Amino acid sequence: MTAPQRRAIQISGQVQGVGFRPFVYRLAVARRLSGFVRNDGAGVTIEIQGAPAALDDFLHALRQPPPLARIDALGISELTPHQLEPAFVIAASGAGAVSADITPDTAVCDDCLAELFDPGDRRYRYPFVNCTNCGPRYTITAALPYDRPNTSMAGFVLCRVCAREYHDPSDRRFHAQPNACPVCGPRLSLRDATGVPVDVDDVIAAALERLLAGEILAIKGLGGFHLVCDAQNAATVARLRQRKQRDAKPFAVMAANLASLARWVEGDETDWRRLTSPQRPIVLLRQGPDSDRSLPGIAPGLAHLGVMLPYTPLHYLLFHQAAGRSAGTAWLTQPQPLLLVMTSANPGGEPLVIDDDEATRRLQGIADGFVTHNRAILARCEDSVVTGHIFIRRARGHTPQAIRLPRAGPSTLALGGYLKNTLCLTRDDRAYLSPHIGSLDNAATCRALEEAMAHLQDILRIAPERVARDLHPDFPSSRLAAAYAAERNLPCIAVQHHHAHIAAIAAEHGLREPVLGLALDGVGLGTDGGIWGGELLWVDGAHFERLGHLRPLPLPGGDRAAREPWRLAVAVLHLLGRNAELDRRFGARAMVIQHMLERRINTPETSSAGRLFDAAAALLGVRETNDHEGQAAMELEALAHRHGLERPLAEGFVLHDDGVLDPLPLLATLAEGMEPGQGAACFHATLALALSEWLRWARDRTGLQQEVALGGGCFLNRLLSTQLQTRLETAGWRVSTARQAPPNDGGLSLGQAWVAMLAKLG
Ligand SMILES: [Zn+2]
Ligand SMILES: [Zn+2]
Repeated sequence: MTAPQRRAIQISGQVQGVGFRPFVYRLAVARRLSGFVRNDGAGVTIEIQGAPAALDDFLHALRQPPPLARIDALGISELTPHQLEPAFVIAASGAGAVSADITPDTAVCDDCLAELFDPGDRRYRYPFVNCTNCGPRYTITAALPYDRPNTSMAGFVLCRVCAREYHDPSDRRFHAQPNACPVCGPRLSLRDATGVPVDVDDVIAAALERLLAGEILAIKGLGGFHLVCDAQNAATVARLRQRKQRDAKPFAVMAANLASLARWVEGDETDWRRLTSPQRPIVLLRQGPDSDRSLPGIAPGLAHLGVMLPYTPLHYLLFHQAAGRSAGTAWLTQPQPLLLVMTSANPGGEPLVIDDDEATRRLQGIADGFVTHNRAILARCEDSVVTGHIFIRRARGHTPQAIRLPRAGPSTLALGGYLKNTLCLTRDDRAYLSPHIGSLDNAATCRALEEAMAHLQDILRIAPERVARDLHPDFPSSRLAAAYAAERNLPCIAVQHHHAHIAAIAAEHGLREPVLGLALDGVGLGTDGGIWGGELLWVDGAHFERLGHLRPLPLPGGDRAAREPWRLAVAVLHLLGRNAELDRRFGARAMVIQHMLERRINTPETSSAGRLFDAAAALLGVRETNDHEGQAAMELEALAHRHGLERPLAEGFVLHDDGVLDPLPLLATLAEGMEPGQGAACFHATLALALSEWLRWARDRTGLQQEVALGGGCFLNRLLSTQLQTRLETAGWRVSTARQAPPNDGGLSLGQAWVAMLAKLG
């Protein structure tokens, strides 16, 4: 027999609170090895002893960790074997601050689903089934360490059976903090429109019955309430839209499984993987030929439909009920006809409703009833939304998962922009992005930003050394940042909006050399006091230079022009000297605008790329007013998509020596009465050509390598992104895009934090 060996193994990564120690325990016991495993400040430490072959086998198996775990680094060293060591044990936590990152909320796992639909299981149809591999985390945790008393499960005392699972290292529920069962855990309840409890035998059955009868229910989820109704009931959908005062913003829908989605949407392998991932985001997929007609009012005029699959046991139980409550999980792979609208309960653009009393108050007149429960939501977290590989919104399933930075730096708090606000906290080489908070145009959302800031600091235990804000001093986020920094005597670094967009990409891709940055966006304050938004930048860490920008367009009426693209169309025709067409196209209202333009009354200029899309849409007659941000641009993309490829207009733009890209000739052509689909396709193709020529010019001027970061909300336009990237990559460029954070203003705080970390203070 070979002499036993002993090894020490240090593991860092996402290894605490994810069932890692019981996993190690089982591997060791199965191989008759001795030693211990414990959590400590760095992650997990293992000392393991036994026959060399068994040790090697153990190490091999260790590299396939449980679903929620992630090994970032693994170090091994040899130790002197112990004389007498009878067994392998899970030891008490070691020294050092527990570094455990709290994991994101995760969709119910297959093992738990099997129990949920097994009539013989003690958790049969129990809406709160979970285990170490699945269930709520971030949204039920108030503070570190991640132990039951610090979660909203604190008030539920484990029954004897649940306690046995919790303490048994060989059990799937060993140290599963939200562990619960029908005897000891949270319960569902049904309430009427005024919040009064309704006495029913079976909440799930009653809820589904109401949904199928055309009611709108507010249902408590992981990170907040959803408004839910039958997506195939046009009258109900119209009523929801009217009650929510959401004129044309699309609703997301939930289907039982992939097989049920085939009827409505088209997608590829990437999309199916995203949909079924434990993060379960909303995925934007191309609508099938049939869905715009058979799902009236869900995503009017748009090419894409936001879809998701169930992620809580409660969601699954609704579909299970609709499928006739068949036993087992076979029904989960068969197409199911039920399709539910699942839209965030955030009336009036205010933060998501998370609390029961708040729900009855704020959703009065919107919801016909409430399905709620007594497990509190401690942190707001909306559904994440993705298109292809790109985040539109990063929240549930991803918060508070860290984004790795190229290097460590001072802990920084960055408070983001004005629209689609998020905040970011960093520690060492990790950046933690908050969930989507919203637009800071109302007091409630500003309060939600402060709450999110406090909560994230509590669960990460980070005391910032630096603060970052947008260059615009009057945003609520900028004021909060300044006040926070002043109170603690910390430096507060103002970061230009488009610099932050490019820095966010540099941060996640580890770009350390100077790069070219193309930021195509709505608007942000420039260093010259102007309104920027179509910027070609040279970016070197904390420094940047504006190499060029889109030709500025007049904004008659300022902000109002962003909501009313027809004003931009008037401005463009005016610039082209085509005032004679104004009356015919836009009627008498255009005369007022013409007057404003001539006298320069309340008419700032902007190089915003978003406004360029608006102008094109209005000139093509696609849309004259925006009900929500980006609507005209989204419809323009949808039209171009349907039309198919067009050739770019080589004469559609002029590139000036001072770096100004002027697309006015393109707009002039669109205004010649081009058919909208053809015009939309021509606009995208020409813009892609113009941008690639622009980048070539910048490379020649700066002598930089062919490396570019593409940032800003316009890159959510998949048509433009694809066409531009294809052009650039064919010409040998290395292109970096936003992958781990949204390219839109939701990613600003990450870029701000990275710039502030790199800034030399002195
Ligand atoms: Zn599970
Ligand atoms: Zn129990």
